[in-house]
Amino acid sequence: RKAAFAALRHMPSITRDDVRVNLLMNAGLLADMTMLGESGAEGIGLYRTELFFMVRSQIPDVEAQADLYARVLDQSSERPVYFRTLDVGSDKQLPYFNHRPEENPAMGWRSLRLTLDRPVMLRRQVRALLMASAGRQLNIMFPMVAEVAEFDTARKLVNMEVARARRLRQRLPSQVRVGTMLEVPALAWQLPALLDRVDFVSVGSNDLLQFLFACDRGNPDLSDRYDLLSPAVLAFLSHLVDACARADVELSLCGEMASRPLEAMALIGLGFRRMSMPAGAIGPVKAMVRSLDRGQLSSYMRSLLNVPDHSVRDRLLAYAHDHGI
Ligand code: PEP
Ligand code: MG
Repeated sequence: RKAAFAALRHMPSITRDDVRVNLLMNAGLLADMTMLGESGAEGIGLYRTELFFMVRSQIPDVEAQADLYARVLDQSSERPVYFRTLDVGSDKQLPYFNHRPEENPAMGWRSLRLTLDRPVMLRRQVRALLMASAGRQLNIMFPMVAEVAEFDTARKLVNMEVARARRLRQRLPSQVRVGTMLEVPALAWQLPALLDRVDFVSVGSNDLLQFLFACDRGNPDLSDRYDLLSPAVLAFLSHLVDACARADVELSLCGEMASRPLEAMALIGLGFRRMSMPAGAIGPVKAMVRSLDRGQLSSYMRSLLNVPDHSVRDRLLAYAHDHGI
């Protein structure tokens, strides 16, 4: 099977009824970049910049960060890279950073909340990203945005750094795109304002599931409690797909959900056309895409959104089986 997936590397990711589905990969270490060519991914849909911060004994300075980001871009062979700004706190602690103990770290001082309170850290990271992207496209993605106002504040810091680089006559990126992850349900209730401002949205299904169901993503006693393939999640995502399509804003999903073929099939049925996953998942997901009739599947998916059930996994499995997917 592995060989069969490898043979798909140069084949387009396209359904039987000619719908393109962009498959990108997640990365966080320079070593992951070697998988880009091997996997046939169309780019890096999520670059987790915090890993570089976590393996160091002190906070990396602007030069060290810029050097890493430039290498990532050098190895991307012109394919897009979505750099997520520092996403620490909760389960990702920096050894040299004074995290205070928290009762609810997942809902605590983490991610964009932390870097908005330490704006120098965020500005230095953006400075490094701008330096590394001179003459190239830069995609900046903010994690754990809960309010449009947080996005606005973060975006302002980016604008300040662009103005600074201009003042210093540095060579700027050919394009700076700024978007958000959608991991906090509240953000989905501010879509008109949000979609006016962002260049893209990427769903972080790992955190989103945790917050939609108020269910700790790391607690083994709860790991089977709720299903991503439940009508609640599917209806939530369907609403998001429709709003992004109406506003003509690029939408993707970069959580673990995209890496499992059945879940990825459901996403395509809901209207997702772009997803990012670990490199090893690209082959199996592409095989699924190429065996799919998207039109037929989306009518079926619509019928599942209001089913009063814990999970529609069995129905989707039966559908996949019956349609040779
Ligand atoms: C997510 O929450 O789905 C996500 C992609 O971010 P992380 O897994 O790094 O929290
Ligand atoms: Mg997350």
